[in-house]
Amino acid sequence: MAEQGFVESFTMEEEKLQQEFYESHHGKEILKCIQCGTCSGSCPLTDQMDHAPRELFSLIRDGFMADALCSNTPWFCVSCYQCMVRCPREIPVTDLMYALKQMAVSHDLALSSNKMPDLYEAFSREVKRAGKMNETGLMARYGLKHPLDMPAKTGLALRLYRRGRLAIKSDKTRNPDQIRRMMETQPEGMEK
Ligand code: SF4
Ligand code: SF4
Repeated sequence: MAEQGFVESFTMEEEKLQQEFYESHHGKEILKCIQCGTCSGSCPLTDQMDHAPRELFSLIRDGFMADALCSNTPWFCVSCYQCMVRCPREIPVTDLMYALKQMAVSHDLALSSNKMPDLYEAFSREVKRAGKMNETGLMARYGLKHPLDMPAKTGLALRLYRRGRLAIKSDKTRNPDQIRRMMETQPEGMEK
């Protein structure tokens, strides 16, 4: 993963990255943005994001791809779709957040301080293995990468367990391979 501070020295590849983003699924939609800020005003997570969605799109259009791809913004997006339903230009903001996450991972540009890619990866691996999400499996996988985070989570896990909200035993669907194959199949029209 990329380290803090490299952004300033990273300029040569930005034009290529911008082009790659435009060619990704829905990428060119960003050119319709009128910078009205409705998406940022609608987003429940902007206080956690280093760039609100409107600002992120401005960075991309101005070619500051390193800043955009290192941003924590797409990783804090919870896919609530508020921005999408309110955008006056009908820009698929949530889908663009997915595209940015994919690009950040494929170019190894997510900042090392950002633990969300590891949580996403743990989630995806657990669903591919079991055909469903098991909280214990998810946390075990995440904990292997971030063991120091685990003591702080133990109290919460115990409280959830006592209330019957956390199953210790991890179970599988009848045919997890079907789910895995589905996850590995690119939906039609999303090849780029
Ligand atoms: S709401 Fe739509 S047009 Fe307005 S800033 Fe956000 S993406 Fe751009
Ligand atoms: S879909 Fe993501 S970016 Fe859009 S409002 Fe919800 S959390 Fe914010």
